[in-house]
Amino acid sequence: MIIIPIYNSLVLPNTTINLSKESLDSIELPELHINDEVILLLKRQNGRPGRFYPIGFSGTVVLVEPDGSVSIEVLERLDIEEVDLQNQVVASGIRAELSDVPQEESEKKLAALKKQMITALSKLQNGGGYTVAMYLAPLNTWNKLIVASAPYMNMSNEEKYDIMAADTDSERIEKITRAIQEFLTVFEVAQEASEDSNESYQKLYRENALRKQISFLQKQLDDLHPEDKSQLQILEEKIEKSGMNETARKEADKVLRRLKSEGQDGHESGMLYDYLDFVTGLDWRKNVIGKINLKKAEKILDREHYGLKKVKKRIIEQLAVMSLSKKQSGSILLFVGAPGTGKTSIAHSIAEALGREYVRISLGGVRDEADIRGHRRTYIGAMPGRIMDGMKKCGTSNPVMVLDEIDKLSVSYNGDPASALLEVLDPEQNNTFTDHYMNVPYDLSDVMFLCTANSLDTIPAPLLDRMEVIQFNGYTPLEKVQIGKKHLLEKAKKKHGIPEGRLTVTDDAMQKIIRDYTMEGGVRGLKKQLDQLSRIAAVQLVKDKTQVIHVTADNLTDFIEQRPILHDSVQETKVPGIVTGLAWTAVGGEILFIETMFTEGKGNLKITGQLGDVMKESVQIAISLVKKLYPEKAELFETRDLHIHVPAGATPKDGPSAGITLTTALASLVNDRPVSPEYAMTGEVSLRGNVMPIGGLPEKLMAAQRAGVKTVFIPRENEFDLRDVAPEVLQELTVIPVHEVTEVLHTVLG
Ligand code: ADP
Repeated sequence: MIIIPIYNSLVLPNTTINLSKESLDSIELPELHINDEVILLLKRQNGRPGRFYPIGFSGTVVLVEPDGSVSIEVLERLDIEEVDLQNQVVASGIRAELSDVPQEESEKKLAALKKQMITALSKLQNGGGYTVAMYLAPLNTWNKLIVASAPYMNMSNEEKYDIMAADTDSERIEKITRAIQEFLTVFEVAQEASEDSNESYQKLYRENALRKQISFLQKQLDDLHPEDKSQLQILEEKIEKSGMNETARKEADKVLRRLKSEGQDGHESGMLYDYLDFVTGLDWRKNVIGKINLKKAEKILDREHYGLKKVKKRIIEQLAVMSLSKKQSGSILLFVGAPGTGKTSIAHSIAEALGREYVRISLGGVRDEADIRGHRRTYIGAMPGRIMDGMKKCGTSNPVMVLDEIDKLSVSYNGDPASALLEVLDPEQNNTFTDHYMNVPYDLSDVMFLCTANSLDTIPAPLLDRMEVIQFNGYTPLEKVQIGKKHLLEKAKKKHGIPEGRLTVTDDAMQKIIRDYTMEGGVRGLKKQLDQLSRIAAVQLVKDKTQVIHVTADNLTDFIEQRPILHDSVQETKVPGIVTGLAWTAVGGEILFIETMFTEGKGNLKITGQLGDVMKESVQIAISLVKKLYPEKAELFETRDLHIHVPAGATPKDGPSAGITLTTALASLVNDRPVSPEYAMTGEVSLRGNVMPIGGLPEKLMAAQRAGVKTVFIPRENEFDLRDVAPEVLQELTVIPVHEVTEVLHTVLG
């Protein structure tokens, strides 16, 4: 049995098919002779091996022309079960040909259809149509008419298959009639004959016919210029090449089929196209694990970032573990610290050190689960979630992905984004992360996740449990000078095109910028000021043809437009009831003054300033404690009104760490003894008077030193954190760890 694959032909039993020499030459065939038995297989696509429709035909060679072309008489339809690599066919049996139309009716219909076609064809110009019409005229069976007319109908391979696979005459007649109607309409459009017997019917067919013409022409164009392929073809190839998993492939094929049947102008075609464009833009393959070179990684981290010793050490440890365990990801690191302390930029350096793509996803203001996990495609304007969007943007399956501002997630009635994130970060689950938009699983297990946050307070506990916290403490003024000199100024000069050696900034000037024009734990403000300074310098270099510009502490104001920021510094006056506290704010540490005062009244309490609920509780505790410690003064709280004020300047984060300061201020007030402004303190206080630990110690001590405080009381349990405080800060401060609030009161009130 000889197997002959054919493409884009319509064959039916009891007809004859002619195959040209060229079409046979492209297949490896033995020489054909008369009476050879053959099986015709129907290819799905041209130019690709191995994909056939499940129906074929048996046949006999009836003519071999001297030029090599052959005619085959088609005998029966076969069900094809399997075609293997050597093109051996397993045919499971003959498929019956049904004739379900009564003889008489069938003949009438046949005659009518034939007449319609012949009339139409004979109108075709150049006589070609006439010849075809004459050729169709004697055909006396449905199959023959259908096969003979098919080549003139611009039918696609699938449409032809559709007709061949139809089991009954009536099905087949319906299909060919439809094709003929369309063909006739095309013909009419061409003739501009618009008879208006049935307008909407005509419009529909006309539209279909035009679309077909377009796709037919497109196909011809594609064949002429294989390099300009149609969108559909490109998508088809992309799907083929993408390496998708089986589920994803099935979904993509389904969408592609829908897109094809919708046509380019269909309702949903935009949405379908976007989907395919999205999923084929993802990298579905596992990437090879690159060797991690720790020396090189260390070098890159040091080159891009000054200081941050502990952070860098922890990162190198992580990379070492990844290298040993041959994994592309490890524990999830959470970088916590004030803005501008280098959290995202060091993440960028990690990506560079690993030679992997970097992608940053901002979670600030994310409220809906759909932001993380995508919208279902049934929505209009449905979109993938931010995670998969990030994966598409970077185009690899193993990027370093920064989830920025994870502490700014919030919960709304539309589901909890944190729980969706949990799934993203869980190594047990994230290899089958299913975005609602994609609706198929994607493997995120090779992504190296890094998260950043300003503070830990608002991060949901289950999320926090998954992560390992690395603190970014903020920089001391000395560190900032170094960062300014070695990194930010150099970058600013490069950005503004200032050549080497044409702009210098002295250390004094740098210090002054840091002290008087920025108020921050990080260096974002410093970066802005240096950018501005470089801009102004650039103008001078060009306009005044100055050769070199030296910026010093004296001429600094020429290069800075902003007016200086005044930091709170310790107050000179010694008034009872006022005590200096230390606060952690969004921009780092600040000192704050807690002011208390008795006024005429009868035991009311008035609180003003920036106090949240937690601080208000601290006030209640402080009052109870002072009443207990100084029972003889307790009646003051009954006979007078108490006013407590925390000036808004420092906008402290709402926390309990002002407890010790509030208690001291009240003790100072009731005893009418002032507290020297050289003292400052931070710590939470319990009802029994114990001092409990607080966060943000390095930033707070830095603020104390900057403000001119000499002695700071801290909770004893925070003593350990002192090793994170810069030596130049500790040098200028006396730090006294305390366990009970009375220790503070003894020292400051005597
Ligand atoms: P964050 O993510 O913590 O808010 P960024 O990473 O955006 O901060 O850092 C702000 C800018 O400061 C960046 O340009 C960064 O390169 C620079 N920067 C921060 N820390 C350092 C450092 N230690 N050395 C050099 N540049 C730094």
